[in-house]
Amino acid sequence: EAKDSGRGHHQFSTPGMADHAMASLQLQRELHTAIAENQFVLHYQPVVQMADGTLAGFEALVRWQHPRRGLLAPDEFIAFAETHGFISPIGRWVMREACRQLKAWHDTGLPQVPVAVNLSAFEFRQRDVAGEIAAVLAETGLQPQFLEVELTETVLMQQSEQVLQTLQAIKALGVGIAIDDFGTGYSSLSYLKRYPLDKLKIDRSFVLDTPDSSDDVAIVTAIIELGRSLKLRTVAEGVELPAQQALLTQLRCDLAQGYGIARPMDALQARAWLAQRQQS
Ligand code: C2E
Ligand code: MG
Ligand code: MG
Ligand code: MG
Repeated sequence: EAKDSGRGHHQFSTPGMADHAMASLQLQRELHTAIAENQFVLHYQPVVQMADGTLAGFEALVRWQHPRRGLLAPDEFIAFAETHGFISPIGRWVMREACRQLKAWHDTGLPQVPVAVNLSAFEFRQRDVAGEIAAVLAETGLQPQFLEVELTETVLMQQSEQVLQTLQAIKALGVGIAIDDFGTGYSSLSYLKRYPLDKLKIDRSFVLDTPDSSDDVAIVTAIIELGRSLKLRTVAEGVELPAQQALLTQLRCDLAQGYGIARPMDALQARAWLAQRQQS
């Protein structure tokens, strides 16, 4: 019987694996086309000052305008792009487009706010990221203080000399550095003093069940305190409820981002948001 089920399992999984390989090949072909034909778009999510609600900047978030499947979120293609060699061209496009867009807004007299761009650990390893950022800033004319990069702890866990040098080079350009999804990386905290960081972004998973969960309130409180002690600005991600905003204000978290403040929006909507802010 064991033999039968073993064989049955084998027969069953073979077409499944073939399907998987086919799907993978198709996705690779489609990503290739997407890069060649520029099917990506950026959405922008506002980040606000906790104290007075004023706009502190935008985070640029990539989407794929897929010809058949519609607008795809990064969770549907970024990890695949990373492991199949597509992340560098996508990452380069995102960096250039975010800088170009912000500079265009600055040039039309809109409030001059910064933009944050996510970098994956893969990009960090494969490329001269600092050199590329310098080139994009020169090409687009965006001043470096209006750009920030967001890295996850995965990058910093590598503890390599190359990571340190790259971060120092980015910092030397005058570009800000934020740690994204802080607290989820299973890493030691020693990197916080080793690297030239500006911001901690408290992962959404810790904010989600506040203020009801006293454990989560304790974690969020500790991260904000840590940030304050290390002179890093703290950003709460995934703020959805007024009660969360009240708690974070009370804890003197510096900045907040989340659906309760504003959802990510396309460039036209983001521009309107900026223009509206200017009037009020
Ligand atoms: P992230 O950098 O942590 O970005 C925040 C994510 O949380 C965004 O999802 C945003 O839409 C979502 N979010 C913001 N506020 C709320 C909220 O109140 N509730 C909930 N449920 N979600 C909220 P998105 O745009 O789907 O991006 C997911 C992740 O994909 C990002 O997480 C980032 O790690 C990655 N990503 C996005 N754009 C890029 C990119 O250009 N390059 C790279 N390498 N990764 C990117
Ligand atoms: Mg981010
Ligand atoms: Mg995050
Ligand atoms: Mg995330």
